[in-house]
Amino acid sequence: MRNAGEEGLGSEAGACGGCGAAWKPLGRRGFLKRLAALAAGAAASPAISALMGFARSASASPAGWLEVEFYEKLKNNEILCHVCPFDCHLFDQEMCRCRTRTNLGGKLLTPAWNNPCIIRRDPIEKMPLNHFLPGEEQVSLAVGGCMLRCLYCQNWQQSQSMPQNLKNFACTPEDAVSGVLKQTPEDGAKKCRTIGFTYTEPIAWLEYAKAVGLHAKSRNVRVAMATSMFFKEKALRDACKYVTAFAAALKGWGELFYNKVIGTRDPKEERGDFKAVLKALEVVKEEGVWMEITNLVVPTYNDDMAGVKEMCGWIAKNLGTSVPLHFGRFVPEFKLKNLPRTPVETLDEARKIALDAGIKYVYTSNIAPHTGNNTYCPKCGEKIISRLGFKILSNGLRDGACPKCGEKVPGVWS
Ligand code: SF4
Ligand code: SF4
Repeated sequence: MRNAGEEGLGSEAGACGGCGAAWKPLGRRGFLKRLAALAAGAAASPAISALMGFARSASASPAGWLEVEFYEKLKNNEILCHVCPFDCHLFDQEMCRCRTRTNLGGKLLTPAWNNPCIIRRDPIEKMPLNHFLPGEEQVSLAVGGCMLRCLYCQNWQQSQSMPQNLKNFACTPEDAVSGVLKQTPEDGAKKCRTIGFTYTEPIAWLEYAKAVGLHAKSRNVRVAMATSMFFKEKALRDACKYVTAFAAALKGWGELFYNKVIGTRDPKEERGDFKAVLKALEVVKEEGVWMEITNLVVPTYNDDMAGVKEMCGWIAKNLGTSVPLHFGRFVPEFKLKNLPRTPVETLDEARKIALDAGIKYVYTSNIAPHTGNNTYCPKCGEKIISRLGFKILSNGLRDGACPKCGEKVPGVWS
């Protein structure tokens, strides 16, 4: 398994089902080493030392509690939260399943505030986003918590924990944004003008994401969000005001898959969570925010090609054939350690089905080298961007178009 401190080639990264790639904690020895390097003024690496300049480690949450948005007050200090389709009905003193919201005296409060457990520089391609500032890096942020229970979660130590129980940094929205602006391309480091919310589910810490996002926007810093799309419409439309690009997971096809693998409900219940995710994807399209879809192919759970075909047909019809689609290779983790990695042939088959459905930009991620790492012109077949996993080997794009036939390639290129 790739260590978070390594450059991502992609073949061993182990994506988190559309919620960013795997994060490996430093461990006590690594953490002390990093602190020692900082104290000595030594450059552990340009990325890490620059980041440590704006975020101090803290063993306890420096956050305080903040009142959240998108909830309604009921009688007897009860509340209803409408951030995600769970629509939690919480009694006084009750904590929600995302572990980041608690009803305290009839107010919904969160401790997920100014206390990310992960801050690091990553290639933007790791989100995955292949049509968004290729070859640049982002400052990735994550706070503990998630409302979902994906059986394969690569970052379960963070996502399935309360923020207060993690080793956190103290980092206000202003710190985060000025941290990005301080990143300079020196010592071979790459250009960095984006903040990425990833590794855990930003919907669980939406208030912090929003504050960072709005501040970023005001200072011309881009905002990328890797998310399960388990959003209610109002909260999502609000997020569209500050997010520049979504790496949006469509984790599988059908209500049963969502119930069984993603843990949205009791497996026997069918209450429309899958439909809520489809609706959220349509909302992003309607709002005109850049989006790339990711689908982690999990052996025996969602590798049935009839389902893949139906999914691709739906994407082509409802989101259009220009939305990039990434098929991710599953890496055994969390509660699915018994399964093998996704066979390459399965990824190839899924990619072919998507291309046959008319989807123009179909990628394979978490595996390199692979043809599906590259961007090809859908009109003349020219290889426009050559990649090795997350690494750009060459980029022939000219003003957002194919250098050979001039076909426009959709994306955020500058
Ligand atoms: S965001 Fe949390 S509290 Fe709100 S509905 Fe979802 S799981 Fe419940
Ligand atoms: S449990 Fe949460 S963080 Fe983990 S893969 Fe699922 S949505 Fe992402």
